[in-house]
Amino acid sequence: MFETNLARIKELAEQKERENWDFRTHLKGCDIEPEEIDAIVHQLYAQVSSKIDCGACGNCCRELSAALEASDIERMAEAEHLTSAEFERKYLNKTDEPGRFLIRQKPCPFLDGTVCRHYKSRPESCSEFPFLHKPDFTTRTIMLLWNLPLCPIIYNVYELLKQEVAELEMLRRGAKEANLDRRQP
Ligand code: SF4
Ligand code: SF4
Repeated sequence: MFETNLARIKELAEQKERENWDFRTHLKGCDIEPEEIDAIVHQLYAQVSSKIDCGACGNCCRELSAALEASDIERMAEAEHLTSAEFERKYLNKTDEPGRFLIRQKPCPFLDGTVCRHYKSRPESCSEFPFLHKPDFTTRTIMLLWNLPLCPIIYNVYELLKQEVAELEMLRRGAKEANLDRRQP
């Protein structure tokens, strides 16, 4: 059973903060190849996201500012019956990155209860969150740990990942020791 209570996840994330950052450091230096870690994360993400209903949560839309690029703005503006310029004035802040904007308000003004009012037109960054299906997991863990206390999917995937890595390392240590034993006269 996965933890989905947002208050409890926030509390647990605080308690495990040191452990979680230490595990991040461990992942970067361990013998497991980054591609292998990606494969484990992708499998855990599929497992966890099939059991956690984002439509009943919406916490990322309450707590984070979605990032938009030109094509997102066009789609969202059309869904709001505005021009892109009007949409930008009404809802967006510029970022330091050219062509990249953030939704100004938190919670997101397009959130209706726990669901996006423009779900089909939502920005790519929203549809991709929490980015656990992407490659190069080990290069994106800072952002992941920032978002862990607010996202049940991230929290549960990271907990399972700690277990999976520990088991895999134990198996490999065992195999290495058995090989050494066989070489003894
Ligand atoms: S645009 Fe929709 S999916 Fe994105 S943060 Fe706002 S409510 Fe959530
Ligand atoms: S991605 Fe995470 S925070 Fe966002 S709705 Fe799904 S479970 Fe909730």
